[in-house]
Amino acid sequence: MCLVDIEKSPKLQIACNTRVADGMVVHTTSEKTKAAQRAVLEFLLVNHPIDCPVCDQAGECKLQEYYMDYDRQRSRIPLPEKVHKKKAKPIGPLVILDQERCILCSRCVRFVDEVTHTSELAFYQRGDHVELDLAPGKVLDNPYSGNVVDICPVGTLTNRDFRFRARVWYLERTPSVCGACANGCNIEIYHREGRIFRFQPRKNSDVNQYWMCDAGRMSYRDLQGEGRLLNPFVRRGSEFVRATWESALGQVAGRLGDLARTHGPGAVGIIVSAQAANEEVFLLRRLAARLEARLAGIAWSPPDADHDDFLIKGDKNPNTRGLALQGLTSDAGEILTAAARGDLRALVLHRVDVTRWCDEIAARAALERVPCLVVLDGQQRETVEYADAVLPIASYAESEGTFTNHAGRVQRFQAAVVPPGEARPGWQVLGGLLALLTGEAAPPSAEMAFQALARESAAFRGLSYATLGETGAPAPLVS
Ligand code: SF4
Ligand code: SF4
Repeated sequence: MCLVDIEKSPKLQIACNTRVADGMVVHTTSEKTKAAQRAVLEFLLVNHPIDCPVCDQAGECKLQEYYMDYDRQRSRIPLPEKVHKKKAKPIGPLVILDQERCILCSRCVRFVDEVTHTSELAFYQRGDHVELDLAPGKVLDNPYSGNVVDICPVGTLTNRDFRFRARVWYLERTPSVCGACANGCNIEIYHREGRIFRFQPRKNSDVNQYWMCDAGRMSYRDLQGEGRLLNPFVRRGSEFVRATWESALGQVAGRLGDLARTHGPGAVGIIVSAQAANEEVFLLRRLAARLEARLAGIAWSPPDADHDDFLIKGDKNPNTRGLALQGLTSDAGEILTAAARGDLRALVLHRVDVTRWCDEIAARAALERVPCLVVLDGQQRETVEYADAVLPIASYAESEGTFTNHAGRVQRFQAAVVPPGEARPGWQVLGGLLALLTGEAAPPSAEMAFQALARESAAFRGLSYATLGETGAPAPLVS
């Protein structure tokens, strides 16, 4: 397709692999060039099925786009005479193969040979019967298998999860960062009318190149659906009653302020997980300073968490490094022990499920003993059952903020969809609590909270949403 007409060269040359020379004159739109481009495209389409109306790639198919840009002629090959191959053949948990549509570009074969080194795919047969297929005895089941769908320029390899769920031209895209491990792969969130349809990798040479892992790709499912907290709740006697934000924030701020005043430093404990954004951690630190509270961070991952030496990190939290850069270490156990001893008057849990992430029995004893438990979370977890107040907060796909990945790179995520129910962004809820406790104005945006963090903390100094851009920047203390 990139054939060009170079003066003094007897034949057309491929532009992608021809060195530029002094005085070279190149024609890219001459009649000779255009005729050659059309001919190549016709060749690619000789045995291509007429699948566009039912093909899931329609809307993001390079072949379809090139046909419209360069060809637009009727096929000279009658349909029955085309070579037919296998259609809709599942070749792995995430990928389905339609051999007829393959243009034999070998991108997918090179990916499994050169990137994952798993070699599940290869070409077989000869001439116009060449077909892409699984290598004997293999299944396309490596941790990065979904990437072959992204790099296939046509509808040969499609994603079993996404196919037939939405036409891409109906979807909107929002740049973000995967929150499923500490690598922080850059992604695009595809969404429509408040629903997320898929994650796809976004190029960032410093983080994930062009790729993402399958677990991260499918993690969009955990962000939506059943189990989300939708409304603020406060405990009244033995009952849990729904409250307005104004009333819930007022009650929480009033209670925490009273307990801190009455019982002095250390009466309140705050535990934040490494699922929280840098902005939230910053506001929690200010809250802790105001309440003279004990503050601890926690980065929990399943004991058998997978990892490799490419992208996947064993730390399944997106912001462990961000917590460390703000000085939060993992002494959450001490806070829980104090609560279990009866030394704590109030405990604030921010995106933390201590019943799962700490010693279960000790955690439950602590939650039962503490007189005032405030839970800020997006998910309905066991901790909610012990809470005196529940404040529902948005996921990273529903709000703005930044994570600092394992290498200390600070990266932005942006709101793709609105939070469900009455849930609000975490920075907004914490800003509201701080405003009630201090009388100061709440930060009007996540960006303003980040600005304040960058002013206050040497680890983030000089950074702003503008300097981070869409691919992030190393935290100054790390670089
Ligand atoms: S990337 Fe797609 S078109 Fe290219 S060889 Fe693989 S299946 Fe065929
Ligand atoms: S490697 Fe980590 S950050 Fe990257 S896509 Fe997978 S889970 Fe997400």
